Amino acid sequence: MTADALSDTLRQTGLRHGLVGFGVCSVEPFGAVRSEMGRRIELGLAGRPRFTYTDPVVATEVSRSFPWAERLIVGSVAYLPAAGTPGPAAPDTGRVARFATVDHYQPLRTGLIAVARQLEESGHRSEVLADDNRLVDRAAAVRAGVAWWGKSTMALAPGFGPWLLLGSVVTDAVLPVSTPMVRDCGTCVACIPACPTGALDEEGVLDATRCISYWAQTPGFIPRDIRRAWGDRLYGCDDCLEACPPGGRLAEGAGSMNGRIDLVELLERSDEELMDTYAHFYVPRRDARFLRRNALVALGHNGTRRAIPVLIRYLESPIAVLRGHAAWALGRIGGKDGRVALERARSIETDPTVVDELEAAARLSEGR
Ligand code: SF4
Ligand code: SF4
Repeated sequence: MTADALSDTLRQTGLRHGLVGFGVCSVEPFGAVRSEMGRRIELGLAGRPRFTYTDPVVATEVSRSFPWAERLIVGSVAYLPAAGTPGPAAPDTGRVARFATVDHYQPLRTGLIAVARQLEESGHRSEVLADDNRLVDRAAAVRAGVAWWGKSTMALAPGFGPWLLLGSVVTDAVLPVSTPMVRDCGTCVACIPACPTGALDEEGVLDATRCISYWAQTPGFIPRDIRRAWGDRLYGCDDCLEACPPGGRLAEGAGSMNGRIDLVELLERSDEELMDTYAHFYVPRRDARFLRRNALVALGHNGTRRAIPVLIRYLESPIAVLRGHAAWALGRIGGKDGRVALERARSIETDPTVVDELEAAARLSEGR
């Protein structure tokens, strides 16, 4: 089979198995992307380096991990409208971003694995990369003509906008490369003011330290100004995606209710139950405390009297980050029961960070 014929067969296989985008690119290092990652790390815009930022050299130089590689075959799937919509806001509930309502990576893997099998049947080596720190998947998608870089830093495709998951198959097959997409955001800047924390103020650059989605996946205390902008989110943030006109048609078509979770019930479940139910979330160290912490912040926005007993119980948690965020939520909700609990907790607290949270929460709750 010629390289052209093999490429065509692979494309048909991928599309038949659910991919909506397919392209091929070289494995030359993504030098400009690596430089930009280095700049963001130096400026502190990457936050605590993780995912591809843990080793930008590896993530932008395929041959480091796969010395035999000749090409990247890039595939994409659209997770809207199947991901649905969280529906209208409701007290004591939290929203999950659409990319995480279920494990949307599974259909992507199915398509990529089908392509990889086809390659192996044709005598070629292959390895599937999906949600993998060894490759900046957006850079590969842009080079392979599957997407363009949006000013939101997301990869966008016509008809799908940013509602895409991307993955690749690394192969030693010397396939013809695709033409990069001649397209960009034009004069649109809709995502920039849509961000509630100003994380996109430098066009095309994400300040991760200001991004709610970043903090939802990062251990430790969430800065208070980020908490104030958090809203009812439990995991992820879709605001810059929802504002993006190229994805508008899919967002409008996402009718089914999905991704709204009762936070009081969540806070009463065991760690094992939480990690089983949300196995597809990226939770730091697979430690349920960080999911609980996110739920506490969301309750600080829409918690009712029903949430107060569980929040008071969390003031007695052996985990400082949970005591601190429970205090913040109680301070926001206010009320006599919460104030009394905050005073009692302050009288026995010894952790200086939590003491600061308790005192700030007590001030916040005055008059509420
Ligand atoms: S995910 Fe949310 S917080 Fe992060 S850049 Fe987009 S709109 Fe801003
Ligand atoms: S909202 Fe507009 S500027 Fe932002 S990524 Fe989408 S098309 Fe580009």
